[in-house]
Amino acid sequence: MTPLTETEPAQEISLAQQIMDRDKQFVLGTYARYPLVLKRGRGCYLYDVNGKRYLDLLSGIGVNALGHANPRLVKVIREQAALMMHCSNLYYHEWQGKLAERLVKVSGLEKAFLCNSGTEAIEGALKMVRAHGGRIDPDKYEIVALENSFHGRTLGALSITGQPKYRQDFEPLLPGVKFVRPDDVEGLEAAESDRTAGIVFEWIQGEGGVYPISDRMTPKAKELTEKYNALLVCDEIQCGVGRTGAYFAYQLASPAIMPDVAVTAKPLGNGIPIGVIMTGPRATPAISPGMHGSTFGGGALACRTALECMDLIEELLPNIRKVGAYFSAQLKQMTSKFTFVKEVRGQGLMIGIELTIPGKQMVLDAMEEGLLINCTHDTVIRMLPPFLITEKQVDAAVRGLRKVFVKALAHTPA
Ligand code: PLP
Repeated sequence: MTPLTETEPAQEISLAQQIMDRDKQFVLGTYARYPLVLKRGRGCYLYDVNGKRYLDLLSGIGVNALGHANPRLVKVIREQAALMMHCSNLYYHEWQGKLAERLVKVSGLEKAFLCNSGTEAIEGALKMVRAHGGRIDPDKYEIVALENSFHGRTLGALSITGQPKYRQDFEPLLPGVKFVRPDDVEGLEAAESDRTAGIVFEWIQGEGGVYPISDRMTPKAKELTEKYNALLVCDEIQCGVGRTGAYFAYQLASPAIMPDVAVTAKPLGNGIPIGVIMTGPRATPAISPGMHGSTFGGGALACRTALECMDLIEELLPNIRKVGAYFSAQLKQMTSKFTFVKEVRGQGLMIGIELTIPGKQMVLDAMEEGLLINCTHDTVIRMLPPFLITEKQVDAAVRGLRKVFVKALAHTPA
């Protein structure tokens, strides 16, 4: 920074500016951040360094589902941190088995592997798919994934992410991945063969614009994975663990189907990093000791916190369904007069508003109104509010969003 000269008036640099400047100077430039410096949170609200309050309609992209500074979570984290945070997977501790048992019960699957993030869970699932196929035939390594999907930032996860903008700088990626459109049942059928080792889906694409896959895809994917002895993998990282009002989004499929592998992460630890791979009987035998592992995964602090999160989430499932339906209905009504709104869609507290105009400025305008939202896929306003949100808070959100939409209308050419 250039020193001030005698003639220039000394300007005080705000705390927020100092924090942003330091970040820009020293943090690797992977994020295009908004000019907002947050300091603390309580329930569904976050506060910036100047004390301004924001209604958090994004929950850290689906993570802080139980709000901020949740007293029950603070209590167990304190207790466990004082006892033992980590002890390595060379040994047993009380909480990993308990969490795995709980996850298995609610998912309908049979085993769980604990890791630290969504992309890491996807990587493990891809290894399972490869190991499963490789046992049957060395040429059985192909994976079918969906266009418009997002599965994470590691090389394996990028290989099955159906959006060129995430992949283009890192190619060549894993060979043998085929992409089909989320509504293309015939394409799905054509992509399958004896070489297929797995199909990977998000039942509702999150990063891809809160986009549910077609109802016809799920039974067809199940049928094809059975026909070709491949594994059906469900990415529930964004849409799972209560977000849609069901424990897992695949449980909403009609007719009901069971994946062979389901992965999830985001809200499971409410901010304590954790991810999980859950396996059913066709997938479990793919992995034996030594084939996969993690130093941090399944640590005592993360597992105990996740168990408490699951207790809390279970209590909140009716609220997610009720307030989610209310939020969607209010948004549909509020946006019906704006011609640049194409659709309001979603399930539970996973809601997208598709626009015919870019949504980035609306995110900044919402911030001015004290609302945190996000824009994905350039034109989809995405909301993933905490599961604790009330109808009163939804009313306040819709009032604020109306102002944002009116402002956008003023800037939209007729
Ligand atoms: N899969 C889906 C559906 C996601 O939404 C994300 C993250 O947004 C990931 C995978 C990657 O998870 P993480 O960022 O925890 O690695």
